[in-house]
Amino acid sequence: MRKKLVAGNWKMNLTKTASTQVVSELAKLVADKKDVDILICPPYVNIPAVQEAAAGSNVEVGAQDVFWKDSGAFTGKVSAPMLKDLGLTYCIVGHSETRGKFGKLEIEPEEVSQFNETDHTINLKIKALLAHGIKPILCCGETLAEREAGKTDAVILEQIKGGLEGLTAAELGTLVIAYEPVWAIGTGKTCDAEEANRVCGVVRKAVADLVGADLAASMRVLYGGSVNSSNSATLFSMSDIDGGLVGGASLKAEEFSKIVHSA
Ligand code: PEP
Repeated sequence: MRKKLVAGNWKMNLTKTASTQVVSELAKLVADKKDVDILICPPYVNIPAVQEAAAGSNVEVGAQDVFWKDSGAFTGKVSAPMLKDLGLTYCIVGHSETRGKFGKLEIEPEEVSQFNETDHTINLKIKALLAHGIKPILCCGETLAEREAGKTDAVILEQIKGGLEGLTAAELGTLVIAYEPVWAIGTGKTCDAEEANRVCGVVRKAVADLVGADLAASMRVLYGGSVNSSNSATLFSMSDIDGGLVGGASLKAEEFSKIVHSA
């Protein structure tokens, strides 16, 4: 039986003051919910404050990204040993926004390339996280153009193959994968639950083919993309969906708590 995980990706939202208010309220609202792992990933600068506000509760704290080198002349970057030293348990990698793909483009198209994360750099990040005992949450998902061209499954397979390159089942024991169709992120267009479940099954099969059926059967596959308290129960009831990666709806304690309780 896979324990569900409901993770909030706060992206570049909430000040330190607002973050601590939201997480303090959330911690109270979900105190009774012990059968689900609950995670919040705030921006780096607010991690210590959120950890302090969540201390003693069942809300874990993670990061939204990592750089793959341990230390060095990499201005603006944060390493896995730094995240580990803070006591973080999870880190998102390969989010479509760090891959430079946005469901709803709010920056100039010519600026997108500055994100430009690739399957290769995602693979390096996963290796760095695993080396330091942090659970990676690998995001994968197709753009609308890729879906309309019938390439969804091929895109997912390529992202998983690239992301997990050179890693064994023993090394990948803590891996979580989030299926996040790019067109569903921040757009209010949730993927149909049956279709989301089908693609999560494709993810699990890809992992089974690459590193073995045992890991694939125990690994948690999340769905992300406009999850809210009205659609979460249906999504989370699907056989291959083991929880959610939630953006906008995780910024309000009451709404996120309802999503957690629906799992
Ligand atoms: C996300 O950022 O991973 C996400 C799924 O965002 P939203 O829930 O806002 O679509």
